[in-house]
Amino acid sequence: MKYIGAHVSAAGGVFNAPVNAAQIGATAFALFSKNQRRWQSPPLDKDTIAQFKANCAHYQFSAEQILVHDSYLINLGHPEPEALDKSRKAFIDELQRCHQLGLTLLNFHPGSHLRKQSVEQTLAKISESINLAHKEVPHVVAVIENTAGQGSNLGWDFTHIAQIIEGVEDKSRVGVCIDTCHGFAAGYPIHTQEGFTQTFADFDSQIGFEYLRGMHLNDSKGKLGSRLDRHHSLGQGEIGQECFKYIMQDARFDNIPLILETIDQQIWPQEISWLKQQTNEKE
Ligand SMILES: [Zn+2]
Ligand SMILES: [Zn+2]
Repeated sequence: MKYIGAHVSAAGGVFNAPVNAAQIGATAFALFSKNQRRWQSPPLDKDTIAQFKANCAHYQFSAEQILVHDSYLINLGHPEPEALDKSRKAFIDELQRCHQLGLTLLNFHPGSHLRKQSVEQTLAKISESINLAHKEVPHVVAVIENTAGQGSNLGWDFTHIAQIIEGVEDKSRVGVCIDTCHGFAAGYPIHTQEGFTQTFADFDSQIGFEYLRGMHLNDSKGKLGSRLDRHHSLGQGEIGQECFKYIMQDARFDNIPLILETIDQQIWPQEISWLKQQTNEKE
């Protein structure tokens, strides 16, 4: 079964996210559980949590169809001790919010070395950050997103992600989310059948499909290998439609949230319906 949706608004309260997802015909969704551009947010209250769970039940969204995205401020590989500590605390808070909402998948960008430490040191710090967070919060899986490799962001190469996972003690609680725009911008040629096949063969041998817990389906404004993180609507960018057809027809992408982060929210219902048509499933 393909679970298809978008990163929807949680404005007014997280309980609005499942409603917004249902309105666009989604069978999966992503959300921020707090303001993604601030360090501090008020804790989730009992009523909010209850209403979120009730809305998810009403619209038939289970935890495996929902991906929470963490704050953009968090850098789990930060070279400076104080800033690293701040990020780790914020990440634990994100995991706790997921747990309170009955959710199990927290999607995050691995981190940046800020040109102050080596790639190796940064990846080791990220693994350690995940280990520390696992000790504080049960159940929730830390889902590493591949990046476009802008600036000093790590995680654009599959081997970075493999190395982070290698350093995680509880491997049942670490996963991966592949963003197609980021992968393409990082240099993975998923726009052709041959390149797509090779990329996911590499993914499988370097990381392993057993770790794949979600996908972000985005076309790319930047060219192959441009390292630019600039999303586009499906079929309107440099990747083109074919890649998304391959994903829809490939059982290795079943039963995980497939999330649009494309730039024109107005056409999400059409994008979702087009994606559903590309599957071999009947409505
Ligand atoms: Zn992201
Ligand atoms: Zn993404």
